[in-house]
Amino acid sequence: SSAPSPIPATLFPGDGIGPEIAEAVKQVFQAAEVPIEWEEHYVGDQIDPRTQSFLTWESLESVRRNKVGLKGPMATPIGKGHRSLNLTLRKELNLYANVVRGVVESIKIITRQASLRVAEYAFHYAKTHGRERVSAIHKANIMQKTDGLFLKCCREVAEKYPEITYEEVVIDNCCMMLVKNPALFDVLVMPNLYGDIISDLCAGLIGGLGLTPSCNIGEGGIALAEAVHGSAPDIAGKNMANPTALLLSAVTMLRHLELNHKAERIQNAILTTIAEGKYRTADLGGSSSTTDFTKAICGHL
Ligand code: NAD
Repeated sequence: SSAPSPIPATLFPGDGIGPEIAEAVKQVFQAAEVPIEWEEHYVGDQIDPRTQSFLTWESLESVRRNKVGLKGPMATPIGKGHRSLNLTLRKELNLYANVVRGVVESIKIITRQASLRVAEYAFHYAKTHGRERVSAIHKANIMQKTDGLFLKCCREVAEKYPEITYEEVVIDNCCMMLVKNPALFDVLVMPNLYGDIISDLCAGLIGGLGLTPSCNIGEGGIALAEAVHGSAPDIAGKNMANPTALLLSAVTMLRHLELNHKAERIQNAILTTIAEGKYRTADLGGSSSTTDFTKAICGHL
C-alpha cells in the first residue's frame, strides 16, 4: 500500500520559548510518523502593510490555504497599536484604544454576529461532545449594553438546544466558583478578554501554563491551534520550557484533521511520560530539559 500524501499545515514557531517547543512538536510528530508537512512561517520584524501587523501576508495566505495550523506564542508589543494575529484572522471582538491627554479610553465592541457565532459554537460543541451544560460568563450588571447583547445572543441560541442546560454567571462569581469547585462547570462561553483571563486561571488549577492547549476556530473552517501560554521570555533559550501545552495543541489539530489514532498515541505518550515522573520539566517540579523530556516522549512512541 502506498503511504498517504502528507497534509500541509502552517507552523508559526513564534517568539521566546516558541522555537524550542515547536521543535519538540516536530520531533514528536516525526517519531509518531504523523503525515503532516509543516509550512513554517516566522513573524517578521517589520510591519507588513498588507496585514498591518508583523505577520506577513504570505503566512496568512498559508493558513487560509491549508485551513489548519499550529501557532507558537507571540510576544505582543504593548501599546504600539499593531493588529494581533487572532484579530487579523478572526476579526471577532475588538478593543480600540484612543489616547487623550492623561486619559485613556477604550471602547468595547460586541457584535450580534460574533456573539451568535461563538454561542452557536459552544452549544454545538456541547451537543457533539456529550456535554450537558453551557455557562455564559459575563459582566452584564456593569457592562449592560455590550455584555447584555452577548447574553441576549446566548439566550437565543440556548433556545435551539433544549437538551443542554443553560446558565449565566457573572465573571467575578465564576472565578470564585472555579477555584472552590471547578466541577460545577462544563462548557464556558464568553467574550475574548474574559476568556484570556479565565483560561490562565484554569491553567493554574491543573498544573500551570505549561500544560494547557487551545484552538482558535475561524471562519471558513480555519483551525489554528496554540498553547494558552505566552513566549515566556524569562526562560527563553534555556532549554527549560515545557512543550506539553504546544504538543497537546498539536494533538487538537490532529483531531480536527480526524487523524484520531495519531492524536491518541501522542497524547498517551505525553501523559505516560509525565505520570512516570522520571522526565519532567521544572514547572512540574522536575529537572529535565525540554529536549530530554521530548526524547522521553519520542521513546514512548
Ligand atoms: P507567559 O505565559 O509567557 O509566562 C508566564 C509565566 O509562565 C512565566 O513565568 C513563564 O516562564 C511561565 N511559562 C509559560 N509557558 C511555559 C512553558 N511552556 N513551560 C514552562 N513555563 C512556562 O506570559 P507573559 O510573561 O505575561 O507574556 C510574555 C509575552 O507573551 C508577552 O509579550 C505577551 O504579550 C505574550 N503572550 C502571547 C500569547 C499568545 O501568543 N497566544 C499569550 C499570552 C502572552
